[in-house]
Amino acid sequence: MGWSDILVPSLMICGLFGVMLVVGIGFSYLWLVRLNKEATKCPGCGKRGAGELAESKVIDSKAHWEWRTHSSLFRQDVRRVQVTEETFEDHYECQYCGHRWTKTAQWTRTTPEKKRTRR
Ligand SMILES: [Zn+2]
Repeated sequence: MGWSDILVPSLMICGLFGVMLVVGIGFSYLWLVRLNKEATKCPGCGKRGAGELAESKVIDSKAHWEWRTHSSLFRQDVRRVQVTEETFEDHYECQYCGHRWTKTAQWTRTTPEKKRTRR
């Protein structure tokens, strides 16, 4: 039994995993592009991916505090985080027919409370 008996199958397995990884990334990328094109479909002429974001503004913003528990092996932390819900109004313009339309999107983000520095 030589080195090649182990090396060749393991290289094949590595290669297989590599191909699977690349195919997986490729598929999710294509899916994202498709989603994006669907999202920017022009209501005027029906062309996919025609809409260009001309303007985006926040029309509503709500914030509240929430307690979140962070557990680790040694201790448990309870931290206060600020949850901000923002509503955006996106203005799109079609590259082909010039049709303009608006879309609203919601975005939630959390920001942890800043640690107080002791003096
Ligand atoms: Zn159009």
